[in-house]
Amino acid sequence: MRTTQITENLIQLTRTGFVNAYLVREDDGFTLVDTTLKGGAGELIAAARLAGGDIRRIALTHGHGDHVGSLDALEDALGVEVLMPETDARIHAGETPYEGRLKGSWPKIATVPDVRLRPGDMIGSLEVLASRGHTPGHVSFLDTRDRALIAGDAFSTLGGVSSAGKMNWRFPLVAFATWDRAKAHESARSLLARNPSLLAAGHGKVVKDPGAAMGKALR
Ligand SMILES: [Zn+2]
Repeated sequence: MRTTQITENLIQLTRTGFVNAYLVREDDGFTLVDTTLKGGAGELIAAARLAGGDIRRIALTHGHGDHVGSLDALEDALGVEVLMPETDARIHAGETPYEGRLKGSWPKIATVPDVRLRPGDMIGSLEVLASRGHTPGHVSFLDTRDRALIAGDAFSTLGGVSSAGKMNWRFPLVAFATWDRAKAHESARSLLARNPSLLAAGHGKVVKDPGAAMGKALR
């Protein structure tokens, strides 16, 4: 696993070269955003300790397997609060709160989220932003201290900045796994409107001052 200090408050954790989780520093330790694929719990916990804190809670951008894969193992080890977008939590609970057909991987998970997130909720310094489209309940997190945007798969920066609403043939995985590309496109536009200072996506490197690149991805 690769650890990259992005800002004072944000650390990027990359597994298998292309799947990211993030540690967000708060007064009481870290919020872990996403958990990567299965098998990462030990490394994620160790990375937090090395960075000088413990993981205090786990916030998920969406329910896909490459984001919730290590959730059960982390919960076995830590037992911390888990926050998942409401609609994706309902999908994992066996409901069908959406139209059309789900895409991407939805592995069975044993962990039941403690909190079902809605847009406008706050998780420490993070504001929960609506960004459905990639999945029916996908959310993004905006750090209100510095406007860093943790966008999950609403955007990808692998093979260039692209939104989940548009096929990027250099890294097609995110668009292929997208439930509703039209909704994803609208969500990407609303995220750009929040004027982020950096773009931290589920796949790819962090992009600073991402406005122009995000705008280009939407055209
Ligand atoms: Zn995804």
